[in-house]
Amino acid sequence: MSLIVHKYGGTSMGSTERISNVAKRVAKWARVGHQMVVVPSAMSGETNRLLALAKELAPSTLTDAYSRELDMLAATGEQASSALLAIALQAEGLESVSYAGWQVPIRTNNAYTKARIESIDDKRVRADLAAGRVVIVTGFQGLDESGNITTLGRGGSDTSAVAVAAAMKADECLIYTDVDGVYTTDPRVVPEARRLETVSFEEMLEMASMGSKVLQIRSVEFAGKYKVKLRVLSSFTPWDIDINTEAASGTLITFEEDENMEQAIVSGIAFSRDETKISVLGVPDKPGIAYQILGAVADANIEIDMIIQNISKGGLTDFSFTVNHGDYAKTMDLLKNVVMPKLGAEEVVGDTKICKVSIVGIGMRSHVGVASTMFRVLSEEGINIQMISTSEIKTSVVIDEKYMELAVRALHKAFGLDQAPA
Ligand code: ASP
Ligand code: MG
Repeated sequence: MSLIVHKYGGTSMGSTERISNVAKRVAKWARVGHQMVVVPSAMSGETNRLLALAKELAPSTLTDAYSRELDMLAATGEQASSALLAIALQAEGLESVSYAGWQVPIRTNNAYTKARIESIDDKRVRADLAAGRVVIVTGFQGLDESGNITTLGRGGSDTSAVAVAAAMKADECLIYTDVDGVYTTDPRVVPEARRLETVSFEEMLEMASMGSKVLQIRSVEFAGKYKVKLRVLSSFTPWDIDINTEAASGTLITFEEDENMEQAIVSGIAFSRDETKISVLGVPDKPGIAYQILGAVADANIEIDMIIQNISKGGLTDFSFTVNHGDYAKTMDLLKNVVMPKLGAEEVVGDTKICKVSIVGIGMRSHVGVASTMFRVLSEEGINIQMISTSEIKTSVVIDEKYMELAVRALHKAFGLDQAPA
């Protein structure tokens, strides 16, 4: 008997018919004797629908009071889908109970709309499992220390599921989604993209942070930190397929490099349109400016990605960095009205028409010249590189958004990802 966590995405929960299918699949796992905890997303489109209602009443403001209500509102999507799933399981003849995040409770910090999980009390869930119930825990949400409902950021149900699996020391966490695993790149951009049987945790972390939408990045961080055995698989196989076949399908996130396996140098090409570039021009070049600019941005809870500081000319320098689209207006505002006057910078300029393309692979550690191959391929396509950043296992570039698909296709081909490994 194992303790298994299943997570179902919005598409998998998209209608009562689909919820009924999820219930049948979960029942199949419960009937072979596993203890089952299920974390569903809201029904597809529901979170967007709710947030759009709020915007109809008042354009989003940056106040905590407004964000608090957004979380209060958005959390209902998962509450509804969870209750529906419990009802569907009961209809299958299983005992089942659903809990909202605050009932568990799943404790988070108080960063509304992007809260982080701090702890999970699993007593209640364990008691239900011991009594033979299938337990449904709402994804995407928790409770801050003042008793307010918080949400974990879009796609946050993945993180809820992995956090629950970690807290309960589950044997495995299966993320059921509308794709059948992790691909070398997005098949909508490159039809030749292939599913990876396994991907290392570190590669997955880079791919998730680089825009692969398969898993929310925090869920991967959690899985790595607590060594949660994680698999991504399709919820669109027939619910009654053989359970062992199902358990071995999809993509397994691995923690050890298989030494017998010839490691591909590059495992995947990731990309993100969700980036914007902001430059602070003509900043007096003296100690502390990076801190004054980026510290102010970080204090506003905005995540910064790539950073470049130019060589100074005549005592002045330029400073560029990237933030998500969603944070663009807020960051521009902050820089223009607070940071720029304080620093005496000349100008703040923004560019929303950029994208980031990355090559990812743990094989890059032991091979030289991988990044230069990337630069050659881009130059052959006539694509100008605006920013570069590297780590041990990835190289990312910022380029004009209109070349994104061209760049991804060319790189996918150049690194041999179109072909299955021999
Ligand atoms: N329902 C939330 C969203 O749409 C969380 C999730 O689905 O993971 O972002
Ligand atoms: Mg998702």
